[in-house]
Amino acid sequence: MNELYEIHTHLYGCLHVDDILWLGKRKKPRWEIFENSYQRIFGHKPNIEILYKENVFTDSVLNEKQKEILRSFYVFDDSKPIGFLNFQICFDFIIALSHTDPDELKEIVFRVVQNQYEKYSEYRMMFSPFISLSEFEEKVISLIEGFNQVKKIFSNKEAKLILSLNREYPLYERQYEVLKEIHKIDREKILVGIDFAGYEEEYPPNKKKDFIQKVKKDNLFCILYHVGESFQKISPASSIRWIEEISKMEVHRIGHAVSLGITEEMIKNKIFVEKVSERIDHLNYLESLYNQGESWIPIDFVKSLKKNIQDHMEIIKIQYSDLEYRIFFDFREYVLEQLRMRKSVIESCPTSNMKIAGFSPLPFFISNNLEVCIGADDPGILDTSLEKEFEIALSLLKDQEIIDKIKKNNKKYSCKSLQEYKNN
Ligand SMILES: [Zn+2]
Repeated sequence: MNELYEIHTHLYGCLHVDDILWLGKRKKPRWEIFENSYQRIFGHKPNIEILYKENVFTDSVLNEKQKEILRSFYVFDDSKPIGFLNFQICFDFIIALSHTDPDELKEIVFRVVQNQYEKYSEYRMMFSPFISLSEFEEKVISLIEGFNQVKKIFSNKEAKLILSLNREYPLYERQYEVLKEIHKIDREKILVGIDFAGYEEEYPPNKKKDFIQKVKKDNLFCILYHVGESFQKISPASSIRWIEEISKMEVHRIGHAVSLGITEEMIKNKIFVEKVSERIDHLNYLESLYNQGESWIPIDFVKSLKKNIQDHMEIIKIQYSDLEYRIFFDFREYVLEQLRMRKSVIESCPTSNMKIAGFSPLPFFISNNLEVCIGADDPGILDTSLEKEFEIALSLLKDQEIIDKIKKNNKKYSCKSLQEYKNN
């Protein structure tokens, strides 16, 4: 076991081939979840028949070839195209095999914590938006029971639970109310935080401002938020603004924030597409910054961009002119300054970011003096571990002292430490 603190990982993303096999043998898979997700992206159905032809779920012991076939469905490696939705297909394979009934959840907690090499780990879990609130409650309680059981067995390591709420309004508010009730009976304080995860691009963070203020006031859980992780249907500028909006809400930790590290080559001569409403939000944001004294914003130009948007349009194509290009980087400087001022904490997951966004912004974060932690995200799906992620970080940053500082940050900004700090 190592002394590391893992603070960005997802429970079912930690599963390895034997766990996946256990799930697949246990109950009939809900293949439609995986098939639909696959078909949406590739336009045809995946070849799941091979799993049956090769007796993957029926043989009592699998040979290497059978294991490789199984792995080919859920491991998001270099043979698969980058992008969040491609990653989601791999996760949906696991979701298709799972049923999240109480027995399964407890067994999964046992298996994952048994395999945990870190001294401390926080596991995130998100449930389907289609389950009822009473099912949601039952599942969360089962997880907490599972964590309480393993606590006695693996007393040399600690494992905590974070609930990732569904991004859809008003579901997250209702789920949160359930969690507040559960908090009262969670004697060992297993459930330490809430999070927002999964596909983000349809869900502007500013809509959750009141909710986050309420959660902060209740002061029961740490607040974590995945943002700026994928930005194919919003412009880079909007994605960076989303990070700024979340930072301004002073959540405890920000997940990924990859778009901050966008380079000049990534946006030069590119055309971005986003909803007109998002474009207007962004231009209004710049205008309000100008009114607050940010005089670097060429306000007449921003107003002219707004004027050019026609009423009937829903989607807008954007190609940055030289001036807008400059505004983008000036705006990013402004956002970086705000993040530094607030000491916003970013969880960076190198392998995950490279596979989903195509690059790791970690060196950019460090050279801009941001507060950074490192997580493995989904070590099973991404075929990694936290230890490996720190090795990758060292190869990117080439500075052991910085790595040591990040390791300390993982502990310092863990929900456990944040809550101990709160109680003292
Ligand atoms: Zn994540």
